[in-house]
Amino acid sequence: MTLPKTTAELRALDAAHHLHPFSDTKALNEEGSRIIVKADGVWLTDSDGNRILDGMSGLWCVNVGYGREEIVEAVATQMRELPYYNTFFKTTHKPAIELAARLAELTPPQFNRVFFTGSGSESNDTVIKLVRRYFDIKEQPKKKIIISRRNAYHGSTVAAGSLGGMSPMHDQSAVIADVVHIAQPYFWGEARQGETPDEFGLRTARALESTIDALGEDRIAAFIAEPIQGAGGVIVPPASYWPEIARICRERDILFISDEVICGFGRTGSWFGCETFGTEPDILVMAKGITSGYMPLGGVMVADRVVDVLLQGGDFNHGYTYSGHPAACAAALANLDIMLREKLVERVANDVGPYLKAQWSTLAEHPLVGEAPMMGLVGALELTPDKIGRTKFADVGKVGTMARDFSFQNNLVMRAVRDRLIIAPPLVISHGEIDELVARARKTLDATHAEAKRLGWV
Ligand code: PMP
Repeated sequence: MTLPKTTAELRALDAAHHLHPFSDTKALNEEGSRIIVKADGVWLTDSDGNRILDGMSGLWCVNVGYGREEIVEAVATQMRELPYYNTFFKTTHKPAIELAARLAELTPPQFNRVFFTGSGSESNDTVIKLVRRYFDIKEQPKKKIIISRRNAYHGSTVAAGSLGGMSPMHDQSAVIADVVHIAQPYFWGEARQGETPDEFGLRTARALESTIDALGEDRIAAFIAEPIQGAGGVIVPPASYWPEIARICRERDILFISDEVICGFGRTGSWFGCETFGTEPDILVMAKGITSGYMPLGGVMVADRVVDVLLQGGDFNHGYTYSGHPAACAAALANLDIMLREKLVERVANDVGPYLKAQWSTLAEHPLVGEAPMMGLVGALELTPDKIGRTKFADVGKVGTMARDFSFQNNLVMRAVRDRLIIAPPLVISHGEIDELVARARKTLDATHAEAKRLGWV
C-alpha cells in the first residue's frame, strides 16, 4: 500500500484505522485530526504547511526542542552496535550502566540506584510493588495504603490510574485497593472564602496528617504527589504547602514519592521539582524529559535507605522487556549532554523562566482570567466568568475547549484542562518566541471572551 498524500486522504485513513488516546474517536473522526509532519526547535509543521508554536513540548516532554541531530545520531549509533538486549538474567549493557550512573549524579544525594521502565505509568506501577516489597521485607506487611491526591495524574495503566485522582478514569477502569485520595492544593478552585493562600496550603497539607492518623500509621505505606500537578491543570501549591508536607513525612514512618514525570529535568528551574520545593523524597519517578521524548523511557530512583532494605529481599518479581532499552538510554544520555552543555536548567531558572513569568502575569489582567501562575516554564490560565468571586463556568470544560480550539487556529498549542489553559514550552524557547507565545495566548483569550459574551456565558 502506498500512503496517500493529501491531508484529506490521510485523515480518512487515520479515521478508518486509528483509535486515539484520551479522545472521543467518533467525534474526532468527524472533525479530523491535525497531521503533524515535522518539527524543529519549538515549531511544529502540519500537513497543510502551517507552522505551529508548540506551547506544550509535545506532551510535556520535548525539553531540548525538536530536531536535535545529536540525539538522532546517538540512537542510530547505538542501534547499529546493539539495538536491543535485556537486563533481566545476569546481563546488562553499556548504555544502561552509563545512564544509571549519570542519573545518580544528577538526582539529589539520597539517590544512587534506578529501576528502568518504558514510561511514567510503568514507573508508577513499579513504585507500588517496590513500596510493598520494602515494607514486607521490613516485616510491616500491614503497611499497604498509598495516599495520593484528588485530581492527581500518575499514569494510565490500571494501577497508575488508580494512584491518580481522576474520577473519569476510575469510572472506566478496575481500581486497585489500598489507595486513598486527599485534597489537592488548588487554592483558586477550592479555598474557602476569606482563606489566605498560606492558610489554605497548611490546611490542605494537614489533610495528609489527619488521614494518616485516621487510618492508622501502621497501615500507611507512602504518600505520592507531583510537585506541581500537571495534567490536573498546572496546580502550583501555595508556599506553605510543601514545607508542611515535608514535616509530616519526616515525622511519620511513611515513604514519600515525588512523581517528577513532568517536573523533572528542568521544568521548574531545578533539575527536579523536589529541589525547587525543598522536599526530600524516598522515591523519585521520572519519564518524558529524560529523553526529551525522542525515545520512550522511564525510571524510578530509589533512595539508599530504601535500597538497603530491598537488597536484603532476594528476587524482585517485576520488570519490562524494554527496561533500560539500549537505544532509549543512548537517547537519554545525548539529551542530558545537551541539557548540561547548554545549561538549560539554569536558563529556565535565571533567564527564560522569569522572562515568561513577567509576560504571562500580564494576562491575569484579562477579564476572562482568574489567575495566571507560572513557575519555571510551566503555567496556566484559569478562565472564569467572575474574577473577584472566583466563580467557575456553569458547564465546566466548554469554555476551555473553545479556547484551546481558538489557540490551535492561532497556531499555538495550549492544552485545556476543565476551563484552565496550560502551557509547558520547550526549555530552549527564545525571548522572541515567548513574545509570540504570549501574543497568541492573548489573542486566544480575546477571541474566547468575545464568543463567550455572544453566547451569554459571561
Ligand atoms: N506521572 C505524571 C506526573 C504524568 O504527568 C504522566 C504523563 N502525563 C505520567 C505519570 C504517565 O506517564 P506516561 O504517559 O509516560 O505513562
